[in-house]
Amino acid sequence: MALKIYNTLTRKKEVFKPIVKGKVGMYTCGPTVYWYQHIGNLRSYIFADILRKVLLYNNYKVKQVMNVTDVGHLTSDADEGEDKMEKAAKKEGKNAQEIANYYLKLFREDFKKLNISEPDVWCKATEHIKEQIELIKKLEKKGFTYKTKDGIYFDTSKLKDYGKLARLKKEGLQAGKRIDLGEKKNITDFALWKFSEKPGVRQQEWNSPWGVGFPGWHIECSAMSMKYLGENFDIHTGGEDHISVHHTNEIAQSEAATGKKFVNYWLHGAFLMFKGEKVSKSKGGLYTISELEEKGFEPLEYRYFVLTAHYGKPLNFSLGNLEASKNAYQRLKNIISEIKDDKKINKDYLEQFEEAIDNNLDMPNALQVLWKLVRDEKASGKYQTIKEMDKVFGLKLLEKEEISVPDEIKKLVAEREKARKNKEWKLADELREKINRKGYSVDDADEGARVGKV
Ligand code: AMP
Ligand code: ZN
Repeated sequence: MALKIYNTLTRKKEVFKPIVKGKVGMYTCGPTVYWYQHIGNLRSYIFADILRKVLLYNNYKVKQVMNVTDVGHLTSDADEGEDKMEKAAKKEGKNAQEIANYYLKLFREDFKKLNISEPDVWCKATEHIKEQIELIKKLEKKGFTYKTKDGIYFDTSKLKDYGKLARLKKEGLQAGKRIDLGEKKNITDFALWKFSEKPGVRQQEWNSPWGVGFPGWHIECSAMSMKYLGENFDIHTGGEDHISVHHTNEIAQSEAATGKKFVNYWLHGAFLMFKGEKVSKSKGGLYTISELEEKGFEPLEYRYFVLTAHYGKPLNFSLGNLEASKNAYQRLKNIISEIKDDKKINKDYLEQFEEAIDNNLDMPNALQVLWKLVRDEKASGKYQTIKEMDKVFGLKLLEKEEISVPDEIKKLVAEREKARKNKEWKLADELREKINRKGYSVDDADEGARVGKV
């Protein structure tokens, strides 16, 4: 069986063929760390994590690189507006790196909660200024750049297949002529290096051969992905909003600089939607994982919710929809907790599962196979098969909950233990009832009292 994935570049489902046998280089566009990541952003990273886990399941050695955008992402994805990091730093009265580190820390905590594996390499844009300048110099030497009063721009008309990822039509671009171009030669031209308006005012700026300033948002991903994965690598992922500008420009500048194909497979995750609109930070976002927790949801219930939709299709969020996933996930875990390990694998179900994941990561179908297996009274090998499947689901299906027991309950349990030791059975029963009324159960196991939730 072969792994097939949908490639945005060709608009086709293709059999995945790595550049080097048995190995995969994968770059995932990471967060802009000026604010909390909302559950829409996190849907994108769950998708990349599933892809990574499916590749590992298929026995590939994976090197995943993720960038951290801590400079240069302006409030409009084009080259206008304020730098998101500088704006946040001003607002919060902190320095830009404090902001970046704070939100990156929260982001990594969310990864842990959602059981998303960390990439093999995290790379910050501000720690790779040298590489970005080198890349711009290369482009300049090859005649792809020009200077305006606010920066160094990439001339998209110099590249004959500019826009191939998004299938941008040259005529369509011409039609937008009425847009004020400023000094830009073509609407699609983008900044490689922006000059500081007044050097010394910005918190983050660097010297460069062209003047004091900072790199454009797109150049960081080209420079860092090529540094860690080579000039041509296997897979690049991101949210679907990146197709028309960010990834289009990454391809343009990378291929112009090297003369080689940049990435073989481009994969994009569809949006999380709320009331018919894309969930977005600029519109105030939606919940964070911590906020969902405050509302009584477990992070893995959100992961389950995300897996109920195919990554390439929009997913509608509502608390009601999440509640349905919560119930399904808890029911699933309850059923699984009763399953005994017979040390066998159920090949039939595992094959159905593999077919689903290898078919462009069809997780909704994979979940159906799992449900069919747990409900099949005659099936053997359930435990070990679920263990295999969970390598991809990442839902901790076999882990027993570690419940946190409040001090008050611990005290009652200790009192009951004492009563039992003293053979005061009536008191012990009364204490058990009291514990039950507070929502906890207590069993007398060999190793002592075991506390659970009723
Ligand atoms: P940002 O931190 O804004 O650069 O976004 C991080 C990632 O989240 C990018 O890959 C975006 O494409 C993705 N993203 C943004 N909004 C959504 C959404 N509503 N649903 C899914 N992914 C999103
Ligand atoms: Zn990127």
